Amino acid sequence: MALHPYDLYDVRSLLSEEERAVQDTVARFTDERVIPIIGDAFDEARFPRELVGEIAELGLLGSTLPEQYGGGGLNSVSYGLICQELERGDSGIRSFVSVQSSLCMYPIFAYGTEEQKQRWLPDMAAGKVIGCFGLTEPHGGSDPANMKTVAKRDGDDWLLTGSKMWITNGNLADIAIVWARTDDGIQGFVVEKGMPGFAAQEIKHKMSLRASVTSSLFLDNVRVPEANRLPNVKGLKGPLGCLTQARYGITWGPIGAAIACLDEALGYSKERILFDRPLAANQAVQLRLAEMARKITSAQLLSLQLGRLKDAGKMAPTQVSLAKWNNCRMAIDIARDCRDLLGGAGITTEHAAIRHALNLESVITYEGTETVHQLVVGRELTGINAF
Ligand SMILES: Cc1cc2nc3c(=O)[nH]c(=O)nc-3n(C[C@H](O)[C@H](O)[C@H](O)COP(=O)(O)OP(=O)(O)OC[C@H]3O[C@@H](n4cnc5c(N)ncnc54)[C@H](O)[C@@H]3O)c2cc1C
Repeated sequence: MALHPYDLYDVRSLLSEEERAVQDTVARFTDERVIPIIGDAFDEARFPRELVGEIAELGLLGSTLPEQYGGGGLNSVSYGLICQELERGDSGIRSFVSVQSSLCMYPIFAYGTEEQKQRWLPDMAAGKVIGCFGLTEPHGGSDPANMKTVAKRDGDDWLLTGSKMWITNGNLADIAIVWARTDDGIQGFVVEKGMPGFAAQEIKHKMSLRASVTSSLFLDNVRVPEANRLPNVKGLKGPLGCLTQARYGITWGPIGAAIACLDEALGYSKERILFDRPLAANQAVQLRLAEMARKITSAQLLSLQLGRLKDAGKMAPTQVSLAKWNNCRMAIDIARDCRDLLGGAGITTEHAAIRHALNLESVITYEGTETVHQLVVGRELTGINAF
């Protein structure tokens, strides 16, 4: 019996019927709607906004939230599969969904009032309100405790001042979840587009995540009503709690990118005739392809177990760090190797490998760099904080 080249351990057989249906639906969307346009969108440095309505209709925004808020009530494994299938198309599309779902809808759901949930979540699930998440500041994203953005109480309102950098969806967003230092610790605020003193500026000249909007946010005494403060969390655990949700999804995404690259390299190396035989007939090439399959299989099993732990309420942040580190590393290594197997053809966006490789430079950096996640695992092992 032939094994599936991208699922050598039949991980799919470990999925429920619902999980398989979710994967198939998103896979179809990626094949039909994302892959045909994404090379051009990347070239043009354009986020394909025209896909947002369909992404929302498929229920991919806030998919794990309860239905009463517009969510789909899906489990974490299904959410992971959504990320995997979207990133098989492009990391930028997956980033859009991760940010909207895990970094914007999740904090409103987990830390907001009932009124705030009713006000924003259904419209966010419908793609009518787009969110962004402002944690990183220009002076150093790896050390968010050194936050300089401040929120000062002024009567019934708050005045926010500071700046945020590398913010996905920044210029698309109708609302920004902004984390700011207060006299009572770090707190989250929903800052709305158009509030005086609030501006977003798109970051240009990116060579990575070109089909995604990345921005700086500027806050100059922005008056935000108390009704827009997320009251149910204080301290860094607020934003870090969101990041754990998003990072979990990110462990799955790069599996999709790696599968897309392997698929391309496998097809190419079987057809490319060099020295009178297919490129794939060389031992040196088969070793590389086998290595890719080994890495993908390990990553699939890691993320699935992580998802099962999450659904059982037993997932620890260190486990997320290990999987984020492992899976981003495996995908970027595979993407670069696939790019090489394509030879000169691999340097243009006619093929996907270089686009994925470049995108993964961001994915391995954002939501905690590779080093940061290694240090988290090191701290777990030694009990010593080496940051
Ligand atoms: C495309 C993109 C989208 C993003 N989207 C968002 C978003 O939506 N919202 C948001 O808030 N942020 C976002 N980010 C920011 C991202 O999370 C940060 O870039 C990341 O956390 C790293 O921060 P930094 O860029 O300031 O690098 P730095 O923190 O300055 O790190 C620089 C280098 O130092 C290393 N380093 C740091 N500390 C140590 C240490 N103790 N020991 C050894 N090495 C160390 C790092 O690993 C890295 O190699 C995004 C970034 C990118 C590129």
